[in-house]
Amino acid sequence: MRVSHSRVECFESCPFKYKLRYLDNLKTVKATDPDNALFLGTSLHTGLEKNVSAAIDEYFRQFPVITDDHINEAIKLEMLIPKAKKIAPEGFNEVKIENEDFVGYIDLLAPVLTEQKLHGMQQEIPNQFDIYDFKYSNNVSHYKDSVQIHLYKYYYEKLNPGKHIRKLFYLCVPKVNIRQKKDEDLMTFRKRIQAECNKAEPKLVEIDYDPDKVTDWLFKVKHMVEATAFPKNQGWLCRYCDYQDYCQKGWDFMILPENKRRNIEAVQKKVVWLYGSPFSGKTTFANKFPDPLMLNTDGNIKFVDAPYIPIRDKVETVGRMTKRTLGWEVFKDVISELEKKENDFKTIIVDLLEDTYEQCRLYMYDQMGITHESDDSFRAWDKVRTEFLSTLKRLMALDYENIVLISHEDTSKDITKKGGDKITAIKPNLQEKTANKVAGMVDIVARVIADGNERTLSFKTNEVIFGGGRLLTKTDEIPLDYDAFLEVYAEANEMAAQVLQNPSKSSKGTTGRGRKKKDTEEAQEAVTGTIPEEPLDTEEALAAEVAQAEVEAQQEQVQEAEVLDCDTYFHLKNNDNYVLLHEGDAVPEDGEIISKEEFNAGIKRIAQESTKKDDEKPKTRTRTRKRRTTDED
Ligand code: SF4
Repeated sequence: MRVSHSRVECFESCPFKYKLRYLDNLKTVKATDPDNALFLGTSLHTGLEKNVSAAIDEYFRQFPVITDDHINEAIKLEMLIPKAKKIAPEGFNEVKIENEDFVGYIDLLAPVLTEQKLHGMQQEIPNQFDIYDFKYSNNVSHYKDSVQIHLYKYYYEKLNPGKHIRKLFYLCVPKVNIRQKKDEDLMTFRKRIQAECNKAEPKLVEIDYDPDKVTDWLFKVKHMVEATAFPKNQGWLCRYCDYQDYCQKGWDFMILPENKRRNIEAVQKKVVWLYGSPFSGKTTFANKFPDPLMLNTDGNIKFVDAPYIPIRDKVETVGRMTKRTLGWEVFKDVISELEKKENDFKTIIVDLLEDTYEQCRLYMYDQMGITHESDDSFRAWDKVRTEFLSTLKRLMALDYENIVLISHEDTSKDITKKGGDKITAIKPNLQEKTANKVAGMVDIVARVIADGNERTLSFKTNEVIFGGGRLLTKTDEIPLDYDAFLEVYAEANEMAAQVLQNPSKSSKGTTGRGRKKKDTEEAQEAVTGTIPEEPLDTEEALAAEVAQAEVEAQQEQVQEAEVLDCDTYFHLKNNDNYVLLHEGDAVPEDGEIISKEEFNAGIKRIAQESTKKDDEKPKTRTRTRKRRTTDED
């Protein structure tokens, strides 16, 4: 087994998480919050390797649609990257260290220079290098304890005899974490962001090499490799674990199916999300898919001939009783029926997806006894979203040739560009967080455009046009025609298969940090004088690199999260107490996050237990002491 720093770190933090990630190879749908530490860290790396514009492109590319919050983060990158570049020396980026036991990437390997100048220039000292690791973080102290950079020196020198690493540095770029005040307009807030970025100074932190850290780490590797049990390490850090819903609540909408390789080129099933303005031709287009069944929510079925099931509330009267079945229950019943596969439909179409989301909300209100999410803001949004997405996952997993989701287009939201100009965001009419998750579950998101009589299907996505999906297309736009769509789909599928077989052929050529095989080879050639004979970027190595970035990002999130960002109820396990902590309070180490109901129930239980204990105490005779009177005094 080839190990990496991130792999061991993951095992140390929670063996069960390690098992899910590395042994079961379960993937999660990434969170698309604008301050996602993984995406920000990746973009910073790109910026330091290339330039600001590449960094911003990299950052925007991670999201199905861009909002004002994304632009705020991009402003920070734009201001901080040039400052960081000024203190980073010249050198080789993304140098891979790899043998049969270990894989890791050095962010920057810089040749050591002479102090004296020759012909006005400092000269490189042969075979002497410094290592720089980039961190987008305010938590420098955490990284001072990390073994990561020590491993890089150890393995680099081991794999490159005669080369010497002189010094180790972290290049720390501070994060600007300020919030928009309630009474502050966006442009004033952005001025404040810029002022904070002006004050922020990236710095180099030198780390003294400690060989004992490497020895300790090798013991940890032994422990990990020999492990046969993978217990859960439950604690407050679970809050930041990608697998939390799966591990603790049994929800599995986030997990991609079965742990077995698929032959992508042979995959026939298509999962497509179409959106566009009303009457643009979405439903008519979907009707062309073979043997369709429409799950229709809006009754707009007049112009298509596909059989359909209305998805809406059903009211039945039996005798004097009226029974109402909510639309969401109807939808779930239909999915259960389709799962039996006792029919010959080939295409299942949901028209309109956002209506099913609204039905899901009403169903959950009924279940939770609330009238709006704000009645239980702590959990309700999350519960609604989870109910919706886990059901949608069942739909996507149905064994039919095609699953087509249809949504209306929403153009009611503007985003404000850096300069203050407003542009309209074009996206499906679905709550943003949910829409981002759905985009992560489908093959292709496509927009149906009607311009007079001309109808087109657009795969274009940029900062204002929502898009995404598993497959990337070379084509931006095609006529709204089923055969043309099949061609684009086949081409995109083939590209995805090629990328899997040979990751360096990816059109983007990146592995999550913008790292390219070519860069690595050039760097190795320059540094070691040879290009390795074997291709360097094995799938395993690429996975290790992505995992490395993910683990770093998660650590970053955890470090930042030591302070609460909203009022939160906790159960303190060590002394079995219940507390409500407020925004800005430190997160208690032994605290488990709970709901308001659990908090109330816990307080009640403690009160009852303490009354019971009092009742059980042997009755002692109490002497009432007479209050002394003034005279007695
Ligand atoms: S939620 Fe907690 S216990 Fe479960 S895998 Fe994640 S870290 Fe481990």
